[in-house]
Amino acid sequence: PPVLVWFRQDLRLADNPALAAAGDRPVLPVYVLDEAAAGRWAPGGAARWWLHHSLAALAAALQAKGAGLHLARGRAEAVLPSLARAVGADEVHANRLCEPWARAQERRVAAALAEAGARLRLHGSPLLHDPADLRAGSGRPYEAFTPFARALRSRLEHLAPPLPAPGRLVPVPGAPEGETVAGWRLAPGAPDWAAEFATLWRPGEAGAEARLARFLAADRLRAYAAARDRPGEADGTSGLSPHLHWGEISPRRVWHAVRDAAASGDRAGSAEPFLRELLWREFCHHLLWHRPEMPERALRPAFDGFPWAPDARLLRAWQRGRTGFPIVDAGMRQLWRLGWMHNRVRMIAGSVLVKHLLQPWQDGAAWFWDTLVDADLASNSANWQWVAGSGTDAAPWFRIFHPVLQGERFDPEGRYVRRFVPELARLPDRWLHRPWQAPEPVLRAAGVVLGRDYPRPLADPAEGRARALAAFAAMRRRA
Ligand code: FAD
Repeated sequence: PPVLVWFRQDLRLADNPALAAAGDRPVLPVYVLDEAAAGRWAPGGAARWWLHHSLAALAAALQAKGAGLHLARGRAEAVLPSLARAVGADEVHANRLCEPWARAQERRVAAALAEAGARLRLHGSPLLHDPADLRAGSGRPYEAFTPFARALRSRLEHLAPPLPAPGRLVPVPGAPEGETVAGWRLAPGAPDWAAEFATLWRPGEAGAEARLARFLAADRLRAYAAARDRPGEADGTSGLSPHLHWGEISPRRVWHAVRDAAASGDRAGSAEPFLRELLWREFCHHLLWHRPEMPERALRPAFDGFPWAPDARLLRAWQRGRTGFPIVDAGMRQLWRLGWMHNRVRMIAGSVLVKHLLQPWQDGAAWFWDTLVDADLASNSANWQWVAGSGTDAAPWFRIFHPVLQGERFDPEGRYVRRFVPELARLPDRWLHRPWQAPEPVLRAAGVVLGRDYPRPLADPAEGRARALAAFAAMRRRA
């Protein structure tokens, strides 16, 4: 009998265990848009743009293999059994996910299929290593990155090679007609706020492979350790995050490709800084798997009593890139224009929101969720908790990023700020990250009137820091 392959966040043909499991049997590939299952973690605006294009790419790739993608909207536990019955399938193959809502969805789908006389067969995971199968010596999940990474790294010495993409697929005869991607209106119409995304991104498996090839071919891998912290460096990092989130490329494929590239050229060690970032991705998922409350609640209970000072005006200024801190504003505007922000700047912007402005980290995470093309429940919430200091392995609270010094250190020639905050472009380097301290003639020569062309900072860095420390002390007294 035929089988269904249920695509989820694994929108690729190569190294796809669920698709490979179909073997030579007739197969109906399916994608179900089940927004109710994800609830508030359904894809945000930027992610929907990505999904639109990625599904179109997947549909074309499957069509070329002989079995087109069936699109359906609704609850997966209703759609899949009815499709299975319609085509006489006895099995549905899918790859596992780590999101709590997705795991609950798997349980419901398995039960509904069993009632319909079919089986859900789950495979793989979005990770290098199954998160359920890695625990510290105590038998408990890891809470700190370093021991986690050490344990995982040694297991990965035996990481199996990726699976090849299937050859021709055998279609299911008489498969019912599905919906169309265009009909779902996932991408914005007019005004098209995502217009600039396509200058940077090419969603889909071919785009993911092209990104990886470019990263490896130009020897950016060797430069990565130094370049990865420089937001003004074009292509300092791989740009693989949205492709990894949507499963357009498997982390196993990236891992092997990077190691092979480094080994062929006698520079095996040059891969390590990059591989370490993939381990951070694993760690975030490990945390989410074992602490499903992570997206909503502080992992350190003491933070439940943190005296946040929610203020819609401050939050809005941050979202729009009008905080008066050039490095933060450049990041927030990069995010809006391109659906992505450099990692160093995510840390600085997050820190300013949470510490200098005392806004709850959940509000920052929610904005990122809506605006990042790589919005990922595990990576976003783990990193926000890390920035806020409420994570299990977070930086100590008193280590507060100074938005001016961070800007000067990591964007010393101001390339990043000048690109995304053009109204400051003519300020000399010396004042670029601290325009409110620039002498009046310098501002005039650069054509900047503070408060008109560019805002004064929402908080004085030193006062903001002192306020943050006082809030932290108040929390500790309460705990
Ligand atoms: P590269 O430097 O090329 O790294 C390669 C891969 O490693 C990335 O694609 C990513 O999958 C992984 N990686 C790198 N850094 C991290 C990290 N700190 N944590 C987890 N995985 C990492 N990443 C997301 O994928 N989705 C998110 O929603 C997300 N939200 C974040 C929120 C905050 C506040 C912060 C500080 C970081 C967040 N990150 C998130 C992590 C990181 O910023 C991005 O993964 C990275 O910028 C992606 O760019 P790249 O692919 O060029 O990274």
